[in-house]
Amino acid sequence: QGDADEGIDYMFKIVMVGDSGVGKSQLLNRFVKNEFHMKSKPTIGVEFLTRTVVMDHKLVKAQIWDTAGQERYQAITTAYYRGAIGALLAYDITNQHTFDHVEKWLDELRIHADNNILVMLVGNKSDLSSSRAVPVEIARDFAQQEGLFFLETSALDSSNVESAFIGLLSQVYRTVS
Ligand code: GDP
Ligand code: MG
Repeated sequence: QGDADEGIDYMFKIVMVGDSGVGKSQLLNRFVKNEFHMKSKPTIGVEFLTRTVVMDHKLVKAQIWDTAGQERYQAITTAYYRGAIGALLAYDITNQHTFDHVEKWLDELRIHADNNILVMLVGNKSDLSSSRAVPVEIARDFAQQEGLFFLETSALDSSNVESAFIGLLSQVYRTVS
């Protein structure tokens, strides 16, 4: 890091959470590298990716943590959550189970991360709407009840990916600036 952080006004730690297979890694891949892979392989050894954005004439560096698949074994460590100020909580709109588990992920966040953590709920794979299992209204109502931001995204066709991350970052920015 070192020199790379020169001129940075704010550094925000963001964590990706949600069931295995919902597209967390590809959402991050899309946001940071503008890439997508059908055959997603876990990023071994890399704990986070970063992207710096300008907000309100300030340089904001997002350090976005992704799992290497530990969520499959409920083995995400407390270090993963430590210091996180925002979370992108993803489910797959074609898979009801992944939406049913959102509450479990909120509990995880509330236990291990800061109480005031801001959460963007993301219904990913909106490109597969012909196989939709989770109605958008249900998810939107749930998000409103729980005080979460909400968008449907597609890491495949890029829809709303930028909006989801930038939306979360700007809300975080508003709370700290
Ligand atoms: P993770 O386990 O939550 O990190 O999920 P991955 O990012 O590894 O994605 C799991 C699978 O879903 C991979 O085969 C991806 O290519 C695929 N995938 C991810 N995002 C999308 C999306 O927006 N649309 C479609 N159709 N497939 C996706
Ligand atoms: Mg992954």
